[in-house]
Amino acid sequence: MAHCVVPEAEAILDREFKVLDKGFIRLVDYLGGDARIVQAARVSYGEGTKSYREDAGLIDYLMRHEHTSPFEQVALSFHVKLPIFVARQWIRHRTARVNEISGRYSIMKDEFYLPADADVAAQSEDNKQGRAEEPMEAAEAAKIRNLLDKGQRAAYEDYSSLVEEGLARELARINLPLSLYTEWYWQIDLHNLFRFLSLRLDPHAQKEIRLYARTMLEITRAVAPAATESFERNILHGVRFNGAEMAELKRRLGVAGKGAPTEATAGMAKAGNAAPRKAPEQGQEPLLKGKALERFEEKLRSGKQI
Ligand SMILES: Cc1cc2nc3c(=O)[nH]c(=O)nc-3n(C[C@H](O)[C@H](O)[C@H](O)COP(=O)(O)OP(=O)(O)OC[C@H]3O[C@@H](n4cnc5c(N)ncnc54)[C@H](O)[C@@H]3O)c2cc1C
Repeated sequence: MAHCVVPEAEAILDREFKVLDKGFIRLVDYLGGDARIVQAARVSYGEGTKSYREDAGLIDYLMRHEHTSPFEQVALSFHVKLPIFVARQWIRHRTARVNEISGRYSIMKDEFYLPADADVAAQSEDNKQGRAEEPMEAAEAAKIRNLLDKGQRAAYEDYSSLVEEGLARELARINLPLSLYTEWYWQIDLHNLFRFLSLRLDPHAQKEIRLYARTMLEITRAVAPAATESFERNILHGVRFNGAEMAELKRRLGVAGKGAPTEATAGMAKAGNAAPRKAPEQGQEPLLKGKALERFEEKLRSGKQI
């Protein structure tokens, strides 16, 4: 099979999907799709193309067993417009190829991210890296938005004056804030894109980057629907349990056998996260304590929700 054409992906090529107040994501190009994953995997096994169901089954097998290299045969190129503070989080994903607009060469546009009222929230009390779930009172939110807007306008006016006075663009820009929009071309293979999506769709990621990841997930679905569905089922909505948590899970379900706690695992015991010393029995006290028990309960309740 030569060039792989996916009609659903062709249909959205170059279309702008809006994100935040002024940002967007566009699928510029793609290489391969589900068929390419299957084709690459079957090189190993020497078999031809099968039915969609069998192909989806093979993709799911590859995903479950972390046979990741066939997913690397698929690549997606995006054009993204995003605020600089989102770009700084995004750029930490090192396995992509990036071309960003140059503030040394181009005049930066007067475009800044201003959060909507519903996104203006206080510092979270239990998560040092996040905001409270409830937004602030409307009047307070409006005050904060005005303040942000005022700062952005003042910074841009200064920038424009410095450029007009002839200061080098590379210097004129240095006081522009993190809310300024930038643009880049971002190309990544499907395996690493799933890694990006699993981290940036997680509720621990900042809401603004999560919104980009959510749009990107839907674009990815158009390119490789079976792989995306398998990623969602096995990774995005899956939860990983550590040894002590597995023991507690087995105790609750009344399951013994392979992997049940033994004298050997007792050595891992640490305060609050103790591995059990003997085989679990239903009805016993929980094997986990304190924070470890809370984390376990949290995993059972939610898992990863987008
Ligand atoms: C919610 C959240 C909060 C965060 N908070 C912070 C923070 O406070 N401060 C901070 O500095 N960062 C923070 N990060 C960034 C984080 O530490 C990672 O840098 C980022 O998530 C990229 O992950 P990655 O390295 O797996 O991704 P990628 O760079 O895309 O790499 C993908 C995978 O490729 C492999 N790989 C890539 N490059 C190499 C290499 N050079 N050597 C070996 N293996 C490699 C690794 O297996 C890696 O997992 C945060 C991330 C998240 C999701």
